[in-house]
Amino acid sequence: MSLSKPQSKLTVITGPSGVGKGSLVRKLLESHTDLWLSVSATTREPRPGEIDGQHYFFLDKDDFIKLIEHGGLLEWAKFAGNYYGTLRKPVEEKLVEHRYVLLEIELEGARQIRKSFPDAFQIFLAPPNSIELERRIRGRGTNSEEDINNRLKRAKDELAAKDEFDAIVINDDLDAAANELEELMGLLA
Ligand code: ADP
Ligand code: 5GP
Repeated sequence: MSLSKPQSKLTVITGPSGVGKGSLVRKLLESHTDLWLSVSATTREPRPGEIDGQHYFFLDKDDFIKLIEHGGLLEWAKFAGNYYGTLRKPVEEKLVEHRYVLLEIELEGARQIRKSFPDAFQIFLAPPNSIELERRIRGRGTNSEEDINNRLKRAKDELAAKDEFDAIVINDDLDAAANELEELMGLLA
């Protein structure tokens, strides 16, 4: 399996909230067992059905700040009122084992990874249009009105930064987008 950036074992997937990052990553993981997805730490409340240690490590703010202070995070950012960050140790361990590592993170985190891992392959996931993006966020039914508005505001900044990325994939049809990701990441070889 070779990635478009041949030395890179690290792929970053970024895109506005509700675009379908989680849905697409789940699809990739189902069919490619050699991929490993980093489980992030966050201070946000779990959504119904989310499991600590599986979807996120759910921390309180003090513990999150301690992680930052002790250098435990590869990157971190504040998003819609909560902190999110990538745990350094498990990612570094997987890279040492030459595993293919996926980070599903927002824009500020992607920018930090671009500095610390310039070889990482960075993919931006875009919606077909902004009306469909809002429909998806609302359709998920797990966010308050205030949170939805924060996320839609942030989506504008994220979409404006899409050209910073190595590749842009439009998630219109889910299967077609998954296929495009597989092709870009060299998973079909
Ligand atoms: P993200 O992880 O980017 O916040 P999700 O994967 O949670 O987004 O998807 C948000 C909502 O959009 C979910 O209800 C999901 O089922 C739906 N969705 C994802 N991809 C598509 C698509 N290609 N077409 C229609 N709905 C989609
Ligand atoms: P959600 O609350 O919808 O799960 O995630 C909100 C945003 O935080 C999404 O854009 C998601 O990609 C991003 N995110 C999740 N984990 C991390 C992380 O470890 N670091 C950063 N920077 N963003 C993250």
